[in-house]
Amino acid sequence: MKGNLKKQYGVGLLLFLMIIAAVIFIVFGISETKVSGLKAEDIKENSLVLHWEAKGKPNGYVIYQKDVVLNEFKEIGRIDDSEITDFKIEDLEQAQQYDFMVKAYKSTAKKVWESKTGGEVSTCTLPDPVNITSAVYVDDGNIELIWQENESADGYKIECSKSADFKKPLTVSAEKSETKHIFDKLDSDSGYYFRVRCIVSRDGTEVCGEWSNTADIISFDDFKLSETVDPDKPMIALTFDDGPGYNDASDRILDVLEKYHAKATFFMVGTNAESHKKNLQRKVELGCELGNHTYSHTKYGSKITAKDIKDCSEAIYKTCGKYPTCFRSPGGQTTKEIREVCKAENMPIYFWSVDTNDWKFRDAKKVYNHVMNTAKDGDIVLMHEIYGTTADAVEKIVPELIAEGYQLVTVSELVKAKTGNPPVAGQEYITAQRIKAS
Ligand code: ZN
Repeated sequence: MKGNLKKQYGVGLLLFLMIIAAVIFIVFGISETKVSGLKAEDIKENSLVLHWEAKGKPNGYVIYQKDVVLNEFKEIGRIDDSEITDFKIEDLEQAQQYDFMVKAYKSTAKKVWESKTGGEVSTCTLPDPVNITSAVYVDDGNIELIWQENESADGYKIECSKSADFKKPLTVSAEKSETKHIFDKLDSDSGYYFRVRCIVSRDGTEVCGEWSNTADIISFDDFKLSETVDPDKPMIALTFDDGPGYNDASDRILDVLEKYHAKATFFMVGTNAESHKKNLQRKVELGCELGNHTYSHTKYGSKITAKDIKDCSEAIYKTCGKYPTCFRSPGGQTTKEIREVCKAENMPIYFWSVDTNDWKFRDAKKVYNHVMNTAKDGDIVLMHEIYGTTADAVEKIVPELIAEGYQLVTVSELVKAKTGNPPVAGQEYITAQRIKAS
């Protein structure tokens, strides 16, 4: 009996010690089980991912977000797998400060213990990106940029660069209340790219939003009338489409202009321009005006895209270092879209008041007669620089118009001299003073 009692005591003591050991183990284990290195990663406007490391051997994690109004953490999620140490949080507000906490937990069938302390992180979501709504050439090397407002932004950063990849950008800041900026003293005859992003300041650090769309625009010098043009004397603008190339007609036309110190305007096709560098350089040297006649001259009216127009400008610029300063639509059909692109690209549009139909007749005498019988002060004459018969006619027309007292000027000179103002981008001129209704 005594022996049995001793034995029972012994078993009881052992059990008691085991329970104590288990309690110590659990308490000790929990104090060692925790979350460390909590970070917010992959931060977007409306979401982020919490990432942490586990210490000890937890059974899972509880994720908390601080309620701003109550100023206390509320459980927003639970992970019952110790291996998963990421938690994506969605439906957040842009440009807002958030506080998160993650605790590790251990559990038995009956009880769950959360670690006493949790990893905490404070972070700010990105501000929504804004859109550039307008980029306009104002005058003499000034370009105005306007963007949408983001009411949560504390300011904006704007980049301006000559390259599309924004290498070596000029960076300026704008205040919270500003939604426009004028870049001045830009190089003339240069293309510029612009982009904007929102900035929010939280806890002394700046959080930058994603970049806006990119706006690209060309900077020009203001058009100034050459001193050789007398606004009080009659003048005509000869214009030539579709070239250069195919034959020597263009060079012959340039020979006549050079000989008589006359100027003309050439609405060129991009694909032709880029293969005739010398011809373009000569036009620039002679003071002729370079015009855009789309890149390929394969589309008309509403089929013409912004790209057809911009590609032609780039082709001319790459070939001779000058951007075209005016536009004529193939076949003369213009649309609202074309006018808008031309306005953005700083190009007035030119129709004509005298149509020689040189492409139809291919007859030097008919072209000559038509010009000499109809062209008058302020007129814009349509011809094509790619026909020998046109060159034949021009060889007679130029000296005779000059003999009649006309100055042969570019389209920009014609408008400036006749109206006192430089031509307006996006507007379509029929003569110096007649504008086509849009
Ligand atoms: Zn044409």
